[in-house]
Amino acid sequence: MDNRGESSSEWHDPRGRGFRDRASVADVLALIDRRVSELESETLPLGEAYGRILAEPAVAGSPVPPFDRAAMDGYAVRGEETFGASSYNPIAFRCAGEAFPGRRCRVPVIPGDVVAIATGAALPAGADAVVKHEATQRTGDVVLVTEPTPPGRHVGRAGEDITAGTLILPRSRMLRPQDVGVLSAVGAARVAVVRRPRVTVLVTGDELLPAGSPAVGDRIPDMNGVMLAALIHRDGGTPAVVGPLPDDRDRLERALLQAVENADAVLVSGGSSTGPEDYAPGLVRACGELAVHGVALRPASPSGFGFIRGKPVVLLPGNPVSCLCAYDFFAGRAIRRLGGRRPDLPYRAISLPLARKLVSVVGRLDYARVRVVDSQVEPLAISGASILSSTTRADGFVLVPSELEGYAAGSMVSVWLYDE
Ligand code: AMP
Ligand code: MG
Repeated sequence: MDNRGESSSEWHDPRGRGFRDRASVADVLALIDRRVSELESETLPLGEAYGRILAEPAVAGSPVPPFDRAAMDGYAVRGEETFGASSYNPIAFRCAGEAFPGRRCRVPVIPGDVVAIATGAALPAGADAVVKHEATQRTGDVVLVTEPTPPGRHVGRAGEDITAGTLILPRSRMLRPQDVGVLSAVGAARVAVVRRPRVTVLVTGDELLPAGSPAVGDRIPDMNGVMLAALIHRDGGTPAVVGPLPDDRDRLERALLQAVENADAVLVSGGSSTGPEDYAPGLVRACGELAVHGVALRPASPSGFGFIRGKPVVLLPGNPVSCLCAYDFFAGRAIRRLGGRRPDLPYRAISLPLARKLVSVVGRLDYARVRVVDSQVEPLAISGASILSSTTRADGFVLVPSELEGYAAGSMVSVWLYDE
């Protein structure tokens, strides 16, 4: 088992010179927030906008409802004329026409008349109230009204829901199903949303076989490509996975430059540390800027963050757990920012007591996989960086701040849940 970054003693890479110093997670997050900003917008037909991020505030171009309309089935009346009506003293009217949704009654309601009306139909001229069906009796053209119905009763006024010019949805809103419904109601046929970030993943490692292949000899299937594609998708990006690529400097350089050309952000899986075959950090430094290399985050310390031609390039450790952790903290944040989403971890946190103590090391933020059993938090015993099943068995993770040695049994901790 490869326990890199997981042992409690100071981690040392036997193949390389190690990291002289590691950036704090907070500093890396601040760098990402400073240097990565939202992409431009694109305009989509409303039917494709669900789940996308509004690029500008949505303002109602027209009122909802657009006209005064019946809120009940019954009769459109001149409200004043119904005053005094009761079942002992019904008032008789003449039914002069019918109004249905989409088919308004062209005949105005003159004194002594009513118009039969269905919910949602435009109120005919002259009428100012709707007597509900239950308060009437009809015989031929004669309608007896048995309830006083003052002006305005059972009428939805034009603009009573939304007046024209109202801000209906703020910028950066992730559009919900009901949001696209409301946009439709105010006549927004197209909406400006933030373009989805295109993210290329370069999977590197001589030992890797294509995802899902049977392991052969000492070669293993790539786990990170499919996992990262799913994470990118979750965070609103469009992933493209390249590889597995061999640990070859020239091959990686060509792939990296091409990826920078085609994508808004590039992730490199594997070869991110300081060993002789870890080419990615040097390439980012040579082709652009390696802003961070080495982070005080367990189990993802061999992570890097840089830029080539202004585009973020994130170096993710090959160990699948480290890769997931580094993605969520750094790559995901950059992608979420590019796509106009909230940058924070896209997990819900709940506060629960620890069933056992959780041991950590001072000087590094710890990403500890845990299970929630009977409303208590159980740290997973086998949780080395290479044990991807520690994340599938876990319900989520607890972050132990770098200044703490861990938490005592019974402490209340925040658990970030993998599931929604
Ligand atoms: P590296 O970061 O390239 O030094 O890789 C660290 C460890 O993670 C090694 O044991 C690799 O075999 C393993 N590893 C690297 N990339 C992947 C991958 N895409 N899928 C599964 N394991 C990987
Ligand atoms: Mg490797």
